[in-house]
Parts: sequence; C-alpha cells; structure tokens
Amino acid sequence: MDITLPRDLEAALAAAAAAPDATILAGGTDLMVGVNYHGVRPSAVVAIRRVAELQEWEDRFIGAGVTYRRLEAGPIPGLAQAARTVGSPQIRSAGTIGGNLGTASPAGDTLPFLAAVDASVVLRSTAGERVLRWDEFITGPKRNARGPGELIIGVRFPDRLPRRQAFAKIGVRSAMVIAIASCCVTRDEDGTTRVALGSVGPTPIRARRAEEMISAESRPTEATLTEFSRLVADEVRPITDHRSTAEYRRYASGVMARRLLERVLS
Ligand SMILES: Cc1cc2nc3c(=O)[nH]c(=O)nc-3n(C[C@H](O)[C@H](O)[C@H](O)COP(=O)(O)OP(=O)(O)OC[C@H]3O[C@@H](n4cnc5c(N)ncnc54)[C@H](O)[C@@H]3O)c2cc1C
Repeated sequence: MDITLPRDLEAALAAAAAAPDATILAGGTDLMVGVNYHGVRPSAVVAIRRVAELQEWEDRFIGAGVTYRRLEAGPIPGLAQAARTVGSPQIRSAGTIGGNLGTASPAGDTLPFLAAVDASVVLRSTAGERVLRWDEFITGPKRNARGPGELIIGVRFPDRLPRRQAFAKIGVRSAMVIAIASCCVTRDEDGTTRVALGSVGPTPIRARRAEEMISAESRPTEATLTEFSRLVADEVRPITDHRSTAEYRRYASGVMARRLLERVLS
C-alpha cells in the first residue's frame, strides 16, 4: 500500500492528483472500521491529518479536518449539540466533519444541521474548486459527488445562520450510539423554520411542508404543533433495519421535531 503524508494543502492536492483513486484518510474512525472488519484494502492512501489548511475555521467556513472535539466547543449551537452526541471522547478527538461528509451515511450526525442551514460543500483538486449544495453533494446512502482527485476542503454556510438551533438524536442508548433518527430544527427571528432529519431516509431529509406550515405561525398553538409533528412524520422515508422499524422511526421523527421546535420557540 502506497501511503502519502502531505503536510500542506498543495502537497495533498498533488498527491490526490497523482493517485486519483487513492483513499483519503482523515481521522480514520470510519475508514479503519472498513479496513479492520470489512476487508477494505486501499491500494493508495493520502493521509490528510497533518494538513493545517484543512483545520481552519473562519466565521462562515469550517475546514474538513475540524474534529468533533472542536465543534462541540464551538459557537454554533446546532453543530455543537450534534457533535456532543458522536461516539466517545476518543472518536470525537479523531473524527472530522469532512469524514462525516465523506462517508455520507444517512446516520451522519452533522448532516441534519448542514441540511437545515443549507450549507455547501467545498471540493478542490489541482483542476480547480467546486462548491456544491449539501443535497447536490450527498447523492445517496454512503454516496457523494466527490470526483477522482478531489478533496473535501470544508463546509460553507450562508451569510447569516439562524440564532435558534436545536439538535437531538434517538438511539438505543444515550451515548456511543448510531442514530435511529436524528433531527435539527432552526428558527429565524422572522419565524422562518427549518427541519432536517437523519437516519430516516437515504440522505438527510428536509420536512418542507412542515417548515412552510409552521413558518407562517408567529405563535404556534397546540393544534399547529400537533399538525407540525404529523407533517414531519408524514414526510420522512424511513426503512426497517437492524436498528429500528420504519414505524418507530416515523413516530420518533414527529415527536423529536416537535420537542425541538418547542425548544427553539421558548
Ligand atoms: C465507535 C464509533 C462511534 C461512532 N459514532 C458516530 C456517531 O455517533 N455519529 C456519527 O455521525 N458518526 C459516528 N461514527 C462514524 C465516524 O466517527 C464519523 O463519520 C466521522 O465523522 C468520520 O470522520 P473521520 O475523520 O474519522 O473520517 P475517515 O474515517 O478518515 O474517512 C471517512 C470517509 O471520508 C473520506 N474523507 C475523509 N476526509 C476527506 C476529505 N477531506 N476529502 C475527501 N474525502 C475524505 C474518507 O476517504 C472515507 O471515505 C462512529 C465511528 C466509530 C468507530
């Protein structure tokens, strides 16, 4: 196996260009599970952990190499709450937001937040840069639009993030658990509300009808909260698998979204 250890972005892009099918290794918390347990045998690896440019975090941009440990201590509440639910302290110290996007699991815990705020994913290769909206980048369960030789550079947010943000996830335990369902709700000062859910569809799902209905309500009543919950449950597309049934996921989505909405309204 050919392993390259670039120390800056230029070298990392050059290494990815020289071996366009090389596997990118960030924190390794997904990739090494594949190597250790599922027979993944990359012929070439570009290890990007030492690339300082990927660890940059500016106002509206988070580098792909930023770890959950930094996200959980950061100033973006929805993302911090999501990061706090990931794995264990060891996983949060190694795992990165770029790796969560790279894996593009329906259960990736940062993804509902990125979907709720309409974040974009910045990709770069020696040929140039592409910026894809989250739903252009995540194309299916564990599939994304990254091309050969491209690196995920980071995520970019719109100019203004909603001040009120809340994230929650349901699993079989309260820690070290992959989400059975996860949800992020945001609300702007003008009432605009966004709802994104994870683990209840092939990719993160925005509950657009529920968003539209509740955004028009300046003071939601018990009846509108109930209707909001019903619409969310109606809009998800869960499956039954070894973690949960589709029915439970659907029910949990409605309950969780309503609780988060009440949190951002209070
Ligand atoms: C015990 C355990 C618990 C976990 N718990 C959770 C959890 O609660 N929630 C959750 O969401 N996830 C969880 N995970 C999964 C994992 O920690 C996350 O998905 C994490 O974000 C992966 O990041 P990483 O830096 O380790 O990525 P890696 O494993 O290094 O890479 C993951 C994938 O992304 C690609 N990649 C990484 N960075 C880039 C880049 N910059 N450019 C291009 N491709 C890139 C890699 O090639 C690979 O395909 C858990 C994993 C373990 C082992």
